[in-house]
Amino acid sequence: MKVFEELRASFARGITRPLSWRIEQLKAIEAFLTENESLIIEALKKDLGKSKAEAWNTEVGFLLKDVRHTRKNLKRWLKPRKVSTPAVAKPGRSKLLLEPLGTVLIMGAWNYPMQLSLSPLIAAIAAGNTAILKPSEVSANSARIMHEILTQYLDPEAVAVLNGDASLATELLQLPFDHIFYTGGNRVGKIVMRAAAEHLTPVTLELGGKSPVLVSKKSDIKVTARRIAWGKWMNAGQTCIAPDYVLVEKEAYQPLVDALLQSIKDFYTDDPQRSKDYGRIINEQHFRRLLTLMDGQTLINDSDFDRSELYIKPLLVDNPASDSAIMQEEIFGPLLPIIRVDSFQQGIDFVRQREKPLACYAFSNDKAEQADVEHQISTGNLCINDTMMFMLNDKLPFGGVGNSGMGRYHGEFGLRTFSHEKPVMTRSFHLDVALRYPPFSSQKLKWLKKLM
Ligand code: NAD
Repeated sequence: MKVFEELRASFARGITRPLSWRIEQLKAIEAFLTENESLIIEALKKDLGKSKAEAWNTEVGFLLKDVRHTRKNLKRWLKPRKVSTPAVAKPGRSKLLLEPLGTVLIMGAWNYPMQLSLSPLIAAIAAGNTAILKPSEVSANSARIMHEILTQYLDPEAVAVLNGDASLATELLQLPFDHIFYTGGNRVGKIVMRAAAEHLTPVTLELGGKSPVLVSKKSDIKVTARRIAWGKWMNAGQTCIAPDYVLVEKEAYQPLVDALLQSIKDFYTDDPQRSKDYGRIINEQHFRRLLTLMDGQTLINDSDFDRSELYIKPLLVDNPASDSAIMQEEIFGPLLPIIRVDSFQQGIDFVRQREKPLACYAFSNDKAEQADVEHQISTGNLCINDTMMFMLNDKLPFGGVGNSGMGRYHGEFGLRTFSHEKPVMTRSFHLDVALRYPPFSSQKLKWLKKLM
């Protein structure tokens, strides 16, 4: 593919190496975001019915924070890290040097179309790579803005935005990229990894799964409900780290249900369809999928949906069976199963018996229960007494484990994902001790054993 060859040639010419070039490109992304804020927010409204505030918090504002944080710290992050040198290799110096990988591919997902495309791009540019960005075709309005407008801000010799569907993705995946950063579902994640294996290309897979919420009877139920409702119904439940289902101790079940219903009302009124703050389902196919997940389930509140607007109300599902579809696949929509458990530990065991989630949330005031969750549950990210807030801490990496993905990013972690940390040892010509050279003797071996 011509554009791939051109980007590789640019990388080989070294145009992306200087810190000044990287900073300039990061400033260009910042300018793109500030100068086109209303266009971006409009596109997100068309794609997902996102409210202005939500589009700002989770996309434009999130990215501005990300790009500024990266720009301000990049010089420091790139400083070679000195490490000590053992006596046997002295005189000599050792360090770790971050070097860019080359030409990388970034494949975005549709639910946070700007954030999930540009946040990896910021890291790839900061690390000094050339990149092809392929936004998700499903969020077509956002993809169009990245293709038509973002590209006017960035160095065309180093960054290309290509729009297309799975056939373009398939074509791109044939190429020998130096890294592939994919965000999306597990099915395509496997396709990406298989294709990457052909060229031994390293991958970062930001996948999904079912993110559980544990609620102890020893928690502040009102605050718990608000925080679950915030995380669940943001973007109409279409967030990779949205609470997928709740495991609540039976004594706290009714208070939690009441408080969740109250939070829905407080956030989105009695008629969420008319609330400017409540989003829509991305397309007809996902709308139908979500209705099917409700088949045979008992709803706690009254169902309400409108196909013409792809609207589904925030819904609570009562105690679905473990083998029902809603408990087998990632919901990725506004349905929230509430499952009663006999004890907090039973909830932990329930999670441990399933695939490792991308995020796990636990609400409890009890330090011992908090410690149990920390030590017993393996998850991409763990948040105690809140949902999704860890995304706001640049000092914490974001990524999955096991079935929820591999690799991580955000802040300095993103820079490292798109870099090779090259170990460098520099020796001096002085003191060329013959100890390590043949012919060996028992005397030499004795000294070597002491020095190594
Ligand atoms: P999607 O349909 O937008 O697909 C993602 C990417 O894969 C797109 O660029 C698309 O063009 C490409 N693609 C689709 N079919 C392909 C094929 N056959 N071959 C090659 N490429 C193909 O997104 P999706 O998969 O519906 O995204 C939703 C999933 O993503 C959920 O599981 C969610 O949890 C997960 N997700 C994870 C994160 C994260 O950061 N870990 C963030 C958002 C979403």
